[in-house]
Amino acid sequence: MDVSRRQFLSLGPAGALGGSALGFDLAAATRVKQRLRIEGATLGHSLCPYCAVGCSLVTYTRKNADGRTELLQIEGDPDSPVNEGTLCPKGATSLQLAVSRRRVAQPLYRAPGAAGWQRVSWEFALDRLARNIKSARDATFVTQDADGNVVNRCEGIAFAGGAAFSSEEGYLATKLMRGLGLVHLEQQARV
Ligand code: SF4
Repeated sequence: MDVSRRQFLSLGPAGALGGSALGFDLAAATRVKQRLRIEGATLGHSLCPYCAVGCSLVTYTRKNADGRTELLQIEGDPDSPVNEGTLCPKGATSLQLAVSRRRVAQPLYRAPGAAGWQRVSWEFALDRLARNIKSARDATFVTQDADGNVVNRCEGIAFAGGAAFSSEEGYLATKLMRGLGLVHLEQQARV
């Protein structure tokens, strides 16, 4: 059957010719899914945890037969004056933050010279962190600069805060780091 370019465009994919006349079957593509994945879900509100823009989220959850609550979907809140329903690519993956099986949920440690990482406890990780901070600070603390001025600063450690810090967390982190003598402080939102 000969079909002109004009006829083809006017018929459309589900036109009178049918998919078979075009060489493929469109039946599967034209079947409409009758039920929404979020049908009957409970709607909730949350905030994107990734940065200080503070985009609002809408969450959809449903209680399963086993009593567990399943998180079905997260998307931008259209009623938010901040993001008006939109999310940046990072925020749009918020669902993965909660449900991804690849998410690292425990500290990993690679010993000096080791090729691989091993799972360790939080107690081990925090103890190791504290010891490394202490030794790095002791090794790099400067009391006087080249001109003899008293500076009392730690030049061997840098600190980068997360953009999801609240003001209080940022204040606390800055106080702690300045207390250690750090001068190299940065923030995710600036880098
Ligand atoms: S990371 Fe993206 S979606 Fe999340 S608050 Fe920041 S700008 Fe909004």
